Order: sequence, then C-alpha cells, then structure tokens
Amino acid sequence: MLPKKTPFLTKDQAEEIAARFPTPFHIYDERGIRENARRLKAAFSWNPGYREYFAVKATPTPAILKILHEEGCGCDCSSMAELIMSERCGIVGSDIMFSSNNTPDDEFQKAAALGSYINLDDLTLVEQFAAALGGVLPETVCCRFNPGGLFSLGSSAEGFQVMDNPGEAKYGMTREQLFEAFRRLKDLGVKHFGIHAFLASNTLSNDYYPTLARILFTLAREVHETLGIHIRFLNLSGGIGVPYLPNQPEADIMAIGEGVRRAYEEILTPAGMGDVALFTELGRYMLAPYGHIVTRVTHQKHIYKEYLGVDACACNLMRPAMYGAYHHITVLGRENEKHNRKYDVVGNLCENNDKFAIDRFLPETQIGDLIVIHDTGAHGFSMGYNYNGKLRSAELLLKEDGSVEMIRRAETLDDYFATLIW
Ligand SMILES: *Cc1c(COP(=O)(O)O)cnc(C)c1O
Repeated sequence: MLPKKTPFLTKDQAEEIAARFPTPFHIYDERGIRENARRLKAAFSWNPGYREYFAVKATPTPAILKILHEEGCGCDCSSMAELIMSERCGIVGSDIMFSSNNTPDDEFQKAAALGSYINLDDLTLVEQFAAALGGVLPETVCCRFNPGGLFSLGSSAEGFQVMDNPGEAKYGMTREQLFEAFRRLKDLGVKHFGIHAFLASNTLSNDYYPTLARILFTLAREVHETLGIHIRFLNLSGGIGVPYLPNQPEADIMAIGEGVRRAYEEILTPAGMGDVALFTELGRYMLAPYGHIVTRVTHQKHIYKEYLGVDACACNLMRPAMYGAYHHITVLGRENEKHNRKYDVVGNLCENNDKFAIDRFLPETQIGDLIVIHDTGAHGFSMGYNYNGKLRSAELLLKEDGSVEMIRRAETLDDYFATLIW
C-alpha cells in the first residue's frame, strides 16, 4: 500500500464548494503557490539578477499569473494567446520571456512590441526575426542551445535516474549554429545576449539544474571569450519535477540553488562574468502540487474489473491517457479507511484510455463520494480538450483567507457551438 498524500481540501470544504460550483472543477491553493514561489526565490537569491518566468502553458489563467507576478515572477510565453494574456495581466517588457519554436512573424512582432526577451530556437530564425522587425532588433536576444546526444545524470545522490534525449528533440541549435547566430545578431546590432537550454523534463534529482548550469556556464564563457559579446542572462528553463507518487521525495530547491551557485562561482565568476543573471522557466514545479481536480463518483460497474465512474474525464486531465502518468487519488472522507479495493477510476469518454487510475487500491467507495485527483495544477486544465463534446470545467482559487473564488467559468454548450457553421 502506498503512503498517503494529503489534499489541501477536507471533505467538508469540498462539499461546501461543490454546492456552489458543480463538479468537476480544478481548484488551486493560493497559499501553497505563494510559499513555493518564495522558496524558489530564496534558493536563487544569491544571484542578484535571478528571475523565474512562469511557463504560462502550464496554467494559462490570469489569476494565477497575477499571483506569481506579485511574488516576483515573469511570464514565459510561447504563443500569441499567451503573449496577449500576459499583456492583459499587465505583465510586459522584460517581465516576458518569449521561448517559442517554429515561430510565425506576427508572434515575433508582438513579442518585440511588448519589449520581451526573445529566445530564438533556430539559426534560420535570425534572418526571419530581423526581417519581421524591419531590421530593428532588440538590444538583447537569446538563443536556444541543444547539445544533442543523450543527456544523463546517471544515478544521482538521491537515487534518481535522469535520462533524456536532446538528440531527438526538435528544439534549439547546435553549438556551431549558436556561435553563428550570435555573430549574425551582433552584426545586426544586438548588444546583449542570453543562452537557453531545456534538456530534461520532470526531474526530481537535485543534480539536474547544477549539471545543466555547468554546461551552459562553460558554453557562455566560450561564447564570451571567442566572440567578445556580453552575456546578460542564462536561462535554465523548466524541468524541475514534482513527486506525483506518494513515496517520492520532493526536489530540494535550496540544494539545487546551492549546486548552481557552486558552478557559477567556479566557472563564471573567475571569467569576470559575475554580472550574468540566471533565469528559470519552471511550470510544473510552480503549480502542479497546488492544483486538484475535484470530481464526484457517479457510477460503479462490476464486469471483469471494478470501475468507479466519475464526472471528470480525460478532457479535464490528459496526462494519464497521454503518458500513462500517475496521479494520486484521495477519496475524501475515507482517508483513514483500509485501501483494500482495487479500482479503475474512469471518465465517460468513448475512448478506452480515459482512465485516471488503473488497478488502484482505494478504500471501498460509494456513488456520491468526492474524489481529489492530485498534482493537477500544471499541464492539467491547460491540456484540456473538447473530444466527445466535453466542456472544459471551471477553475477555482482557494484563497489564503479560506474563501473560494471562481477564476475561470466552465464552458457552456453555447461556447462549444460558437464556432460551428450550420
Ligand atoms: C514547457 C516549457 C517549460 C516548462 O516546463 P516544466 O516541465 O513545466 O517546468 C519551460 N520552458 C519552455 C520553453 C517550455 O516549452
């Protein structure tokens, strides 16, 4: 039996909320979000220019962006909609990092008009970018690096394997292309430069950022020494993970910050590059644990297996269907009962991968019980879709004072039909 994860809602609280807002819904914990953002900031406070740019795609909801902005975070945008959302939240200028790929001209133009830091994903984008902006480039431009090959941490101190395959990833430039891009950008009048890399996702190892930092710091030093250009920032991007499983320890953000600091002092400071700012673009780490889906058990079915049918479906949370991802489940009010019944917890899509859990041991559950699906605050609502004519749910915020506010209404059938031509 797996150890427990504790929801940030009690059964009574959830029932009270469900009486006002029909299930299923996504709900976020403001206190948890703020406390975590403060921990992250503290872990990198040794770097005066440090900034987290929240990966908007993880949770593109204005109320969330504003809370994070109050905690000092900017927005990492990768599409027109995300740029405009950020702008409408009053988050503009160097508070935006624009990290996209396969980028259309109008997105470059919008990002530049907002004064964002722009991250170029490919060498060919240098000419496109310059042309899209009529030859007037921003003072600072960033390029995305892809070292190719396999990225591996082996087995780290915490026992986590980190293994990813940059050589198969569509992002970033080779080393030679990166140097070439910087030469061309310099000729085009760019004065300050950034380097960005994202090599592995959902890492719980405390070694991921420090290892990536060493790669980026060494590269930045070589770029600076070879081309004589000023590196303004290095962007470690996203990738710090969260323990979806209840027995996984969480990443130790203070140890991670400390590991990056050691690499900085070994590699950058001696090269006279002690003014380089560090940026991160975390999405999952910032939000995943601070979001739940609350859904009600509506059906039970006993055939070759035992099924619990709930009123949420994969349209509300795609990760289990898409990646076979584990999301912990708590049956509210039955936390202390024996977890001795084996269920598949399913939605009602006509699609057999619409299962939040397979062969999960839970307490004996009744129709009408409320269930919390954990760690849905990032890449949860945002990956939602409308298959089978399912409507996106509301998003709610559990505020620090204990009150609950709707921060996005549920879709209606009118929304669904709005784009149809009869
Ligand atoms: C998705 C993404 C992130 C955030 O990734 P997480 O794994 O959620 O931390 C950051 N930067 C870029 C460019 C991304 O595409």
